[in-house]
Amino acid sequence: MKIGFAGLGVMGGPMARHLVHAGHEVTGFNRTADKARTWAGASGGRFAATVAEAATGADLFILCVGNDDDVRQVVDAALPHLNAGATVVDHTTTSAKVAREMAALAAGQGRTFIDAPVSGGQAGAENGQLSVMAGGDSDALTRAEPALMAYSKAVKHMGPSGAGQLTKMVNQIAIAGVVQGLAEAVHFAQVAGLDTGAAYDAISKGAAQSWQMDNRWATMAEGRFDFGFAVDWMRKDLGLVLDEARANGAHLALTALVDQFYSEVQSMGGARWDTSSLAARLQDRPRQA
Ligand code: NAP
Repeated sequence: MKIGFAGLGVMGGPMARHLVHAGHEVTGFNRTADKARTWAGASGGRFAATVAEAATGADLFILCVGNDDDVRQVVDAALPHLNAGATVVDHTTTSAKVAREMAALAAGQGRTFIDAPVSGGQAGAENGQLSVMAGGDSDALTRAEPALMAYSKAVKHMGPSGAGQLTKMVNQIAIAGVVQGLAEAVHFAQVAGLDTGAAYDAISKGAAQSWQMDNRWATMAEGRFDFGFAVDWMRKDLGLVLDEARANGAHLALTALVDQFYSEVQSMGGARWDTSSLAARLQDRPRQA
């Protein structure tokens, strides 16, 4: 399949590489052109200097850029150059609003736009084990799915345009509370003078178990926060969540609080630390009298 790909960063770079290795003809574009040149050299894909060049003649165009405005810019530039009937799959985490906006724009030009954010992080992209949650036309998604499976373990259709982004918001809400709870548990164990490794052994097979506990307990205790998904990105995502909640009336008191905790982590110099750095905020704090 002839595929255009825009956004060859931490997530997009390995995704696009998996597509090349699966036998697709992939043309990659990135805002910073050197990154696209390096990607093309390393993966065997083709380099594009512009979005239009990456989109020309493609039946499938995939992007994984930064935020809402980046998606608007790239999709607007790509649409007129794609083959008639082509599908655009957006893996960026954005608002549901921009997903609906892009779907209408694409439909007006005889193309289909699917919002398809992912979970699984950098490791999931590298290992081809991402989970994709998608909104939009299900027939177009079914046609794109074999290609997406080059870097995914599951692709789930969630409903109309925007439903993929809403599902990603659910994911981020669930993670925010769990990570803060875990950070407090590690903090308490340390303050209480327990052996944190032994505490993990004692509780991790019971009801407190979670992916975060299995993968981040020990590293939180050691103060290591270099595991990919950055606090800056999490704050962007929680901002999208809280905007959506203001519009739909959901009550997200804990999510709003954790968002503010992350703003404190940013002030501590942790903008690029990973999301488990909520623990650093507690480690820095004097104990109550
Ligand atoms: P990243 O490493 O910063 O990659 C984004 C790439 O998109 C960069 O190479 C950037 O180019 C390019 N880009 C940004 N805006 C652009 C524009 N307007 N036009 C053209 N190219 C543009 O970020 P990432 O970690 O891959 O994350 C990408 C998206 O996936 C974000 O929405 C993030 O929230 C989401 N996500 C990330 C993770 C994760 O673990 N990292 C997990 C799930 C979802 P430059 O080289 O010029 O900056």
